[in-house]
Amino acid sequence: MKGIDGLELSPKKTEYIKFIDNRKNTRTNEIAREFKVDPSTATKIIVELSKTDFISYKPYHGCTLTHKGKEYARFLNRRHGLLVCLLVELGMSKDSACEAVCKFEYFVPKEAVDNICKKLKHPGSSPCGVRISGDRCCCCPGEGD
Ligand SMILES: [Zn+2]
Ligand SMILES: [Zn+2]
Repeated sequence: MKGIDGLELSPKKTEYIKFIDNRKNTRTNEIAREFKVDPSTATKIIVELSKTDFISYKPYHGCTLTHKGKEYARFLNRRHGLLVCLLVELGMSKDSACEAVCKFEYFVPKEAVDNICKKLKHPGSSPCGVRISGDRCCCCPGEGD
């Protein structure tokens, strides 16, 4: 995916995007339940997110990821997966690597992710089971952006 640096969204919004991914139509009260926040808080964040072109939101109908949002979700999974691959490569167990990555993945720029991808020769999935889809920006042989 071109034109992003990977630092567009706050950690919370990143998690919202991952949650909405793979769902048909996500209601704000489902999000509120999942993230244990007040429905009004969930709605507020969704309204903010709908100002980006990652999600489309219709009040009372719920929200879905746009094409661009789906691509971004793919990048988020790829970033998580590659960081876990890296830490496992450095000797960590897959569980502690996955747990550690969840604490800092939000702050790793795409450029670093692409370089990890190259260094590890474009792995297709992470030890913790996340699918890493290709991205032409790092010359992955995969589907690209
Ligand atoms: Zn993981
Ligand atoms: Zn790659």
